[in-house]
Amino acid sequence: MAAIELAALTKVYPGSGRGVRALEGIDLTIHDGEFFALLGPSGCGKTTLLRTIAGLETATSGTIHLGGRDVTPLPPGRRNVAMVFQDYALFPHMTVADNIAYPLRIQRVPKPKRRAKAAETAAELGLGDHLARRPAQLSGGQQQRAALARAMACHPQVFLFDEPLSNLDARMRLEARTFLKRLQRELGVTTIFVTHDQAEALALADRIAVMERGRIRQLGTPTAVFRRPANTFVASFIGSTPMNLLDGTAHADGIDVGGTILPTPPGLAPHLTEGEPVTYAIRPEYVRYAPAPAPGSLRGEISVVENLGATQLVTLTTAAGLVQLVVDEDTEALPGATAHAVPRTDRVLLYRDGELLDSREKTVIAKSRRP
Ligand code: ATP
Repeated sequence: MAAIELAALTKVYPGSGRGVRALEGIDLTIHDGEFFALLGPSGCGKTTLLRTIAGLETATSGTIHLGGRDVTPLPPGRRNVAMVFQDYALFPHMTVADNIAYPLRIQRVPKPKRRAKAAETAAELGLGDHLARRPAQLSGGQQQRAALARAMACHPQVFLFDEPLSNLDARMRLEARTFLKRLQRELGVTTIFVTHDQAEALALADRIAVMERGRIRQLGTPTAVFRRPANTFVASFIGSTPMNLLDGTAHADGIDVGGTILPTPPGLAPHLTEGEPVTYAIRPEYVRYAPAPAPGSLRGEISVVENLGATQLVTLTTAAGLVQLVVDEDTEALPGATAHAVPRTDRVLLYRDGELLDSREKTVIAKSRRP
């Protein structure tokens, strides 16, 4: 088990001009035993970061320490990490037992010991009866567990998972997610998990790094990243229904959003300058539905109603743009009707130039900007 320390890690792939800058000076410490998620849209550099830690890519500059040891120049085999790939990368011509034992064979562990270890690990993961099968004779979930067993058998210091759940159907994915979390807790091995699925990252991780274009845009616990996205990029990425981000203007009596004055969130008034543009942000879950006009509400016409099972997602067309709200299953919201959206002021966030305004900051940003 080991902490992972990345310092000024940069990766540039060869290409025209300055090349492809996949990682732009990543500084990050992942704690011993932590379950850590790298989250971000396609092409943000997640896989490159994972592969660079594994040693499958060479860092252009910067350092990687695993368990206090500088592994930057070392080949993958000498880093004591195990990677589980999206497609599991099981050898099709080998049995489950041989697949699991393969890393031990490379480490020249004697055959009887290898066999015993493979059988033991397979049994732990519920594959005890499938040792003689080949990967093609396993279900997707079983293949995933065989790949996990192969990673576990050699007792690595670090697990690196590259979207290991993405080939499973929705139900299996949920089961595998719970299984993975329990397994990681039991083993206590430092784990980095790459995903573009924000729900997966929120459910699994102790901490999350949200990446964009080779940089970390926010680092924090799932709760912190969900409740207080540090910038509008993270705000629009996290949440199963995207956050409403509305253009607003700050005034002494509140925030003007599409011609309606809405209350300023608690503690933020001293941070604002009269007439400055802000982004008014509220999650659909924190917007109340009112059929009749209500104080502090945005009026609009219902354009779409989507059934989410126990709740419904209602989209209103307002003077401030589209506003989405989650209502319970019994609310009668009909397309074409006029309705009112009432944001919960204590859940409203404000962004200036795309960055979160924080009432806990000691300095008043608006004043400190002046010379
Ligand atoms: P995805 O979720 O689609 O896998 P990602 O966040 O894992 O995306 P990477 O695969 O790390 O992103 O890619 C980061 C950037 O580096 C992208 O612009 C990609 O096109 C580029 N890239 C990745 N591998 C190479 C390579 N071998 N040569 C050149 N450019 C590459």
